Amino acid sequence: MNYHIITLGCPKNTVDSEGMGTILAARGHRPVAQPEDADVLIVNTCGFLAAARQEALDVLRDLGARKRPGQRLIAAGCMVESHASLVQSVAGVDATLSTRRWPRIGDLFEEPLTERGNGQHRQSCQQSQQGHGAENHTLAGADWRTASFRRAGTPPSAYLKISDGCSLRCSFCLIPTIKGAMRSKPPDDIVREAQELTAQGVQEIVLVAQHLTDYGRDLGFGKDGLATLLERLGAELPPDRWLRLMYAYPQSVTPRLIETMARLPQICHYLDMPLQHAHPDVLCRMHRPSCLDHTRQIVGDLRQAMPDIALRSTFMVGFPGETEQEFHALLDFLSEMQFDRVGVFHYSQEHGTPAATAPHQVPPRTIERRWHRAMRHQQPIALERNRRWQGHHLDVLVEGQGMTDDGRSLFVGRSFREAPEVDGQVLVWGQAEVGSRVRVRITQATAYDLWGEPVADGESLLTLPARAGVGVGAG
Ligand code: SF4
Repeated sequence: MNYHIITLGCPKNTVDSEGMGTILAARGHRPVAQPEDADVLIVNTCGFLAAARQEALDVLRDLGARKRPGQRLIAAGCMVESHASLVQSVAGVDATLSTRRWPRIGDLFEEPLTERGNGQHRQSCQQSQQGHGAENHTLAGADWRTASFRRAGTPPSAYLKISDGCSLRCSFCLIPTIKGAMRSKPPDDIVREAQELTAQGVQEIVLVAQHLTDYGRDLGFGKDGLATLLERLGAELPPDRWLRLMYAYPQSVTPRLIETMARLPQICHYLDMPLQHAHPDVLCRMHRPSCLDHTRQIVGDLRQAMPDIALRSTFMVGFPGETEQEFHALLDFLSEMQFDRVGVFHYSQEHGTPAATAPHQVPPRTIERRWHRAMRHQQPIALERNRRWQGHHLDVLVEGQGMTDDGRSLFVGRSFREAPEVDGQVLVWGQAEVGSRVRVRITQATAYDLWGEPVADGESLLTLPARAGVGVGAG
């Protein structure tokens, strides 16, 4: 059968969609670019925030209304877990597949559909009634933790999920409810999957999880499970491939992890470390670690060990009870920390979380204003961080080739400083093959992107001066 898949939400969903594609390819099914050419439509939903759920519903309703007779529509992913009845009520949805059950996607293609009284087909593949914590992951021979994925084609970059779920309980977050406790993929499986990806030509592997830094605790690896895993990957993978770490929990960044990141040639000097807020009272109400000095120490240690490191963080504005003074503390912290990149989220009142019923909910207009203020505040900081690279060289992984209106060739890619999908890009005059690495001299910076030109053969590498990377002092 032909299928068309739409992936919503975060990179972890992208990994699951790729896993579904692998399973479907093994069973002889083919992806198609247009929904109208598909026998089966799959929407891999995100249920994390109200806006994401609305987007998922809009997509499902649209496909449900447009689908032709005989086409089947499958809703998969987080929203199926958190809002099953709402998803099932969308006209035209034939089957649902909850998160962690996606390895059964092939079964949904092949099992006969049951006819319901209203003419809609309904199948469901939900979590066991035992609840998240007690779920057995062996799913009719397909275990989400050990499944290995061969990708069609060889894109230069691939995500690799090393764990799923979260054992923490931030008061605004539904993920532990949706996904259950954190479970790690065994290291042998991760290494094998990473080797398969590199053998297929993948140049950059982005390790993802709710937060990587708890990796292996459930397997008894202790606080340095991630560093141990990275050591293994470093030993097994070619030295010229990139490994990128996305989502570190600040309190779990250990000295050994920092030392490992600095030492292994494959690991990008890049870390995405969501902090959510910078006022201790707000952090307490969020049920997150509130010691900002510890965060400062970690940022300082990272920059001391890797002066060129690019640090990304995300923050939430409008958390219940956030005062103007607390919001100012967040802006001051952004000025102090000089993060290379910052994402700012509006607080979203998620039913079922402690924060949803907390007093002093912030009015939406105030949240919106604070969002704009935080974004404006970060812009000159991001610009300044990018400007430090003017005149210096960066190796760029080429992702696309194009041409301007006036006929000039241009290629686009990313250096170690930019993660796929969330950060800016490096735009370079000239031509280069997608998937290749080109050394580029940076000629111009904006708050988001860098511009440059290829470095001539034999020109020496100009790296960023060590001091320029040290934005905050730690030690
Ligand atoms: S660390 Fe907090 S915000 Fe992140 S997934 Fe876990 S509960 Fe949610």
